[in-house]
Amino acid sequence: GKGAAMVTAVAYRLADQSRQIAKILSEFRLTTEQLLEVKKRMTTEIENGLSKSTQDTATVKMLPTFVRRTPDGSENGDFLALDLGGTNFRVLMVKIRSGKKRSVEMHNKIYAIPLEVMQGTGEELFDHIVHCISDFLDYMGMKNARLPLGFTFSFPCRQTSLDAGILVTWTKGFKATDCEGEDVVGLLREAIKRREEFDLDVVAVVNDTVGTMMTCAYEEPTCEIGLIAGTGSNACYMEEMKNIETVEGDEGRMCVNMEWGAFGDNGCLDDFRTEYDNMVDELSLNPGKQRYEKMISGMYLGEIVRNILIDMTKKGFLFRGQISETLKTRGIFETKFLSQIESDRLALLQVRSILQHLGLDSTCDDSIIVKEVCGTVSRRAAQLCGAGMAAVVDKIRENRGLDHLDITVGVDGTLYKLHPHFSRDMHQTVKELAPKCTVNFLLSEDGSGKGAALITAVGCRLREELNS
Ligand code: BGC
Ligand code: MG
Repeated sequence: GKGAAMVTAVAYRLADQSRQIAKILSEFRLTTEQLLEVKKRMTTEIENGLSKSTQDTATVKMLPTFVRRTPDGSENGDFLALDLGGTNFRVLMVKIRSGKKRSVEMHNKIYAIPLEVMQGTGEELFDHIVHCISDFLDYMGMKNARLPLGFTFSFPCRQTSLDAGILVTWTKGFKATDCEGEDVVGLLREAIKRREEFDLDVVAVVNDTVGTMMTCAYEEPTCEIGLIAGTGSNACYMEEMKNIETVEGDEGRMCVNMEWGAFGDNGCLDDFRTEYDNMVDELSLNPGKQRYEKMISGMYLGEIVRNILIDMTKKGFLFRGQISETLKTRGIFETKFLSQIESDRLALLQVRSILQHLGLDSTCDDSIIVKEVCGTVSRRAAQLCGAGMAAVVDKIRENRGLDHLDITVGVDGTLYKLHPHFSRDMHQTVKELAPKCTVNFLLSEDGSGKGAALITAVGCRLREELNS
């Protein structure tokens, strides 16, 4: 009768709906063959960044850092460190003691950087940074000590020495004017002068990946790679000097800041990108740039999810077809919410309450779909990140002419630390795509601060050696 016909119609509509949802999500599911292809393309881009003839146009820039070795425990002294470019801006005091009872003691304070400062003028940004340093020195009662400082600046910088770094381009949420193309150590020194209140000795500018590698290497000498999976994403590793054609000399190794976030900016990942990736890119502060980072890092995963949810809502699969103001708001799905939604310990009812908390009224079916969308997007992120890492470890293995490589990666970043599955999926992918390497992942404890201090310690000692 009529009733049965209606039930059939509803059943048909639901089946069709779930087919369409599955189709959208299938674009995000990568096969092992596809991931191997990503790994291969990363290897090509690494070569382009290292070679003299291709480096000018290379997207993965492979920037030399002038860090020539990992720590050996002889580092010693009191240092200031700045950490700019991650989830929080911090000023730190780090006391490193060498000898039998080596130790690292740290004090730090978190400061907010208001959006209008992140995206205002460079002078305002650096004045704000120096204002925070001033507050910190007061707090520590150390205004008069002229301490050496390491500046962890988590953006691409072209370095010509340990203490000079020209900002290539802002990434993530920063866009202050008059900084790109400038030496950020110079900008910091000028701001310190303008304030006429204290003096500091800026010894090193450090990428967060390098700080992370150094911190882990302090505990674990096999650590020769640094990885950040947080707001942004990037990696560094110890490369043979003879392969770094952009720096004089063939002896030994140097840490290279890959700036792998820009992988794909020449279009080489386009066949893996979806319309949602394009939307996220177009709405970002830096369209066309950092395309790999936009597929794998915390600042963008929530945005990919949001764009999928908007599309599914438009098609009537979600939220009763109603696009709320909340869903139109950029940045609502922070890493911590994605992590909560995907937590295995959470019942669907709790997923609904998280969505409710975000201002999204969901049915039980909605919450199932949202959770699946989140899981699919973050799984792809972990796998793509793992494919990049597989390229790095195999490169190091081949550099050393080994059939098998044992190596440790120092890791930091909110996505890696907070997300319930990201690390597991990433490890799994590296294992699968680089079977000739045994890769051990070591969580860095406060890599940006400690690592900057360790590098500063080495920098101070080098300078003393040169002066004596
Ligand atoms: C920056 C890198 C940084 C990474 C992680 C990227 O956006 O370009 O320099 O290492 O974020 O913070
Ligand atoms: Mg950080």
